[in-house]
Amino acid sequence: MKRKDKYQAQWIGSRNFAGNDLTWEHTIRPMLEPTIKNAKSLRLADEREEVIKLRTAFLDGLYKAYLKQLVPSQWLFHPQITDVAQFPIFHRIIHAEGEVGTMEDTFTAVISEFPDLVSAWVEERRERLRATLSDISTATGERAEKGQVDVLDLATSVFKCGQNNICRENRFPWSPQMPPGPLFGFGGAISHRCIKLVIHGCMGRNYPITPIIVASPEGSSTATVLVQLSGMDPTRATVIDMDEMDPLFVCCDCPPYVSNLDGNKRRVIHTWRSAVKHAMSKVHGVGNAWRILTPHEMDAVERPVDPIVNQPCWTCNHCSAYFDAHRSRQEVELHLSATYDPKE
Ligand SMILES: [Zn+2]
Ligand SMILES: [Zn+2]
Ligand SMILES: [Zn+2]
Repeated sequence: MKRKDKYQAQWIGSRNFAGNDLTWEHTIRPMLEPTIKNAKSLRLADEREEVIKLRTAFLDGLYKAYLKQLVPSQWLFHPQITDVAQFPIFHRIIHAEGEVGTMEDTFTAVISEFPDLVSAWVEERRERLRATLSDISTATGERAEKGQVDVLDLATSVFKCGQNNICRENRFPWSPQMPPGPLFGFGGAISHRCIKLVIHGCMGRNYPITPIIVASPEGSSTATVLVQLSGMDPTRATVIDMDEMDPLFVCCDCPPYVSNLDGNKRRVIHTWRSAVKHAMSKVHGVGNAWRILTPHEMDAVERPVDPIVNQPCWTCNHCSAYFDAHRSRQEVELHLSATYDPKE
């Protein structure tokens, strides 16, 4: 739109250029001037957008270098660059008119304050996530009371990315038609990385975008049922409790399938996490029925392999080798055994 307007301005100008002074003053100038002014303001807006982009990219480089010095497990509890660029100290410089002090100097000056800035950001996120959960409290019943378990640690606190149809993360296999998958508790929500695919010609590139995390009523109500089936109290059972107990479930709404191996009818076995994801995929419309496997059945079945093992979302916790490109768990384990002494 902007580029097209500029070309349009040039074309009108050249078409009317051959004329005398009278034509210029009375006909051409009144028509041309607003077009030129408009083109100029569009050009200035474009230039400013470019300056903001360059300053943000420079901050991104400094921020990545800072993150690489941390223990990798801390990365997920740090904001994305889109959030860091909103910190007032950086926002002021990124959006300043004209020349400003260098970003490097500013970043170096606040580097000692950075852990505090990040802690404040994390606290603000906690409050925001608590507020989004209060919207679905009626769907999930009574929640943990003050002084007991932090509501954000509960297994029933299920979130999802609100950047529907844009965010590529947390959809596997990714498809714009697939609803976003579950983010479990505070850890799942804060560590979600929102990524948008932008196509340049025939190439696609991922760009970080500001995440919008919302509560998932379907996820929370399914988790409530699963916790109850596991014999625990939904107002107290945490994500860690469910992971440690690791019960298995079958969806009673999914028909059995015929196995290619022996022709017998079988059912898909779900972990509690994959059960919540299955419910949120909405294959059954609203709600579905679950049954927990008995201890005898648990011993008899082969445990399902969590698909996350094969997804390129793993990184070494000793170095930043996979900072820019995460890998499958197997690949990272090969790196670990080849690089580090297991006795250390
Ligand atoms: Zn997202
Ligand atoms: Zn099902
Ligand atoms: Zn490493």
